[in-house]
Amino acid sequence: MKAIVDKELCIGCGLCESICPEVFRMNDDNLAEAYADVTPELQESAEEARNSCPTEAISIGE
Ligand code: SF4
Repeated sequence: MKAIVDKELCIGCGLCESICPEVFRMNDDNLAEAYADVTPELQESAEEARNSCPTEAISIGE
């Protein structure tokens, strides 16, 4: 699966990276990006990151 960060909504809090650094990282603009696929092993932590995002900027789908 893929994760997507809506850069219009991201406020750069860094929470997703701290929860699931295997999928999310902060880019040079201090906004989050999803740089890797959400494998089955990472699904739980990626979903936790999505659910924890204060601006609901993260979506996870096929
Ligand atoms: S948790 Fe949400 S607002 Fe915070 S850096 Fe990640 S995508 Fe951006």
